[in-house]
Amino acid sequence: MALLVVGSIALDSVETPFDKIDEALGGSATYISLAASYFSSPVELVGVVGSDFPKNYIEMLEEHNVDLEGMQIIEGEKTFRWGGKYHYDLNVRDTLFTELNAFQNFNPVLPDRYKKARYVCLGNIDPILQMKVLDQVENPQLVVCDTMNLWINTMKQDLLKLLKSVNVFILNDSEARMLTEEPNLIKAAKLIRQMGPEILIIKKGEHGALLFTQDTIFSAPAYPMEIIFDPTGAGDSFAGGFIGYLHQTRELSPENIKRAVIYGSTMASFCVEKFSTKGLEDLSYLQIQDRFREFKKLSSFDETI
Ligand code: AMP
Repeated sequence: MALLVVGSIALDSVETPFDKIDEALGGSATYISLAASYFSSPVELVGVVGSDFPKNYIEMLEEHNVDLEGMQIIEGEKTFRWGGKYHYDLNVRDTLFTELNAFQNFNPVLPDRYKKARYVCLGNIDPILQMKVLDQVENPQLVVCDTMNLWINTMKQDLLKLLKSVNVFILNDSEARMLTEEPNLIKAAKLIRQMGPEILIIKKGEHGALLFTQDTIFSAPAYPMEIIFDPTGAGDSFAGGFIGYLHQTRELSPENIKRAVIYGSTMASFCVEKFSTKGLEDLSYLQIQDRFREFKKLSSFDETI
């Protein structure tokens, strides 16, 4: 059974203190699918683009064994575009523009074989669209969901409804505080888990991620990097590595979920090393394994005196 991914497919214009790029490949579903493609194959993508979407991006996704039958190409429409600007503190990002374009009238219709997916990743898009996709999946076993501040602000009720059908919810620290109106993350996590998801992951940018389950809190470091070119897509790459590894191993034990968090962090660290999706395009199994192991060294210590 394949892994199903839905989310945005975008042309991003991104400015950082170091460089600037116009109309490069982006979008939550794109980053998730590429990151997951190193673990599971094929990844079934659901999304929409316009007729201006460059062919070389389609080829690159296909080379990563991403199944694009569920990607609608709307003739005469433009692809979703997003513009963002980062400051010296790369955790701070301004959205410069969001042009929905082809997304405006998007009605996701899953090809029949996609409906059999057992692992589903609802990448960041409007929660009503996320729900429309999930409703078509016959018997999902693991549903991972990501979101952003925009939907918490504008569609909170729809998001809360969706969360009742979600197993793993991923969001960042400021979004967790916004959703619960609770400044303390431990208390916020409790409140979010009461909304539906049994597993919660709170991302803290360059400070790592926290995993909350029924009985445990697990803290994963972020990979210490001297060069971060473009943080765009780090959260989505995390989600892709996380669900891709769980899909590959088909094991949902607490220890395996912790390993999945570290694989998520590993893929996020590769993503930010280059602009757009470039950091995820040419990785080897060995590179991923080496970095995964380095995470262990980062926080292991000898407790004996
Ligand atoms: P991240 O850095 O992981 O939060 O994700 C960045 C990606 O999200 C970019 O590639 C954007 O194209 C995409 N994005 C930004 N705003 C939206 C939105 N409102 N809906 C869907 N995707 C978005």
